[in-house]
Amino acid sequence: MNMLNNARVAIVTGASRGIGAAVAQRLAKDGFAVAVNYASSSAEADRLVAELTAAGTKAIAVKADVSNADDVRRLFELTEQQLGKVDVLVNNAGVLKTVPLADTSDALFDQTFDINVRGTFNTLREAAVRLNDGGRIVNFSSTTLALNMPGYAIYNATKAAVEAFTHVFAKELRGRDITVNAVAPGPIATSLFLDGKTEEQIQTFAKMPPLQRLGQPDDIASVVAFLAGPDAGWVNGQILRANGGIA
Ligand code: NAP
Repeated sequence: MNMLNNARVAIVTGASRGIGAAVAQRLAKDGFAVAVNYASSSAEADRLVAELTAAGTKAIAVKADVSNADDVRRLFELTEQQLGKVDVLVNNAGVLKTVPLADTSDALFDQTFDINVRGTFNTLREAAVRLNDGGRIVNFSSTTLALNMPGYAIYNATKAAVEAFTHVFAKELRGRDITVNAVAPGPIATSLFLDGKTEEQIQTFAKMPPLQRLGQPDDIASVVAFLAGPDAGWVNGQILRANGGIA
């Protein structure tokens, strides 16, 4: 069991469910105090925080829309007040709707860029002044960027922006001993991937990697834990694809 006085502090955005929840659980096991951010799933976030707290982790749930700069400032402030200064930022919050570019509405374009790109920008800008020296930032790209499948133009464009942030921001933090990397998962069995797909479509994706299965949230949580931990201290400005070998 973890000790209650968790020394290092992590913010995980979009941690109420899916990959983010698995990342929060894994970082808690690794001894971090964890801020579980969410936008609307308060019941899930509260349940996760209760579970982490019962296991001896200091954890709080913080409602904040990452696309809103004021919300993100409040996310950092509440985390600092209740858990301490932040060591690790995991920019996991993201949305995906697969629609051909020609059929994409202005509203869907704006929502996808607001959450995936502006959301990551907002937290990075805040982290630049608030993260402890020696800290770690893990952004979220996607292996879809390497697959170029129809329907993914807008989503891939947002993840290309996240990869650009990752490469440049790693250099802008020179002198702080902070690493900035991104993980680029392949298909993972969460609602973001599963919703709206037929069983046949899901099986087609599951057969794509040579490891012949869908990824699970824990497959990505362990990669994030590596990038957030001491063993990845010399990995900086990189995109780590975790996809069972699809691309
Ligand atoms: P998910 O199951 O749909 O969960 C998304 C999480 O993001 C939820 O906790 C959601 O919280 C939160 N969120 C959404 N909008 C938000 C906002 N504006 N502010 C704060 N939180 C927000 O998705 P997932 O599959 O775990 O995906 C996590 C990340 O992995 C995303 O960046 C995604 O692009 C990336 N990814 C996923 C896959 C995959 O196959 N699943 C593959 C490659 C990359 P609420 O419910 O409260 O809104």
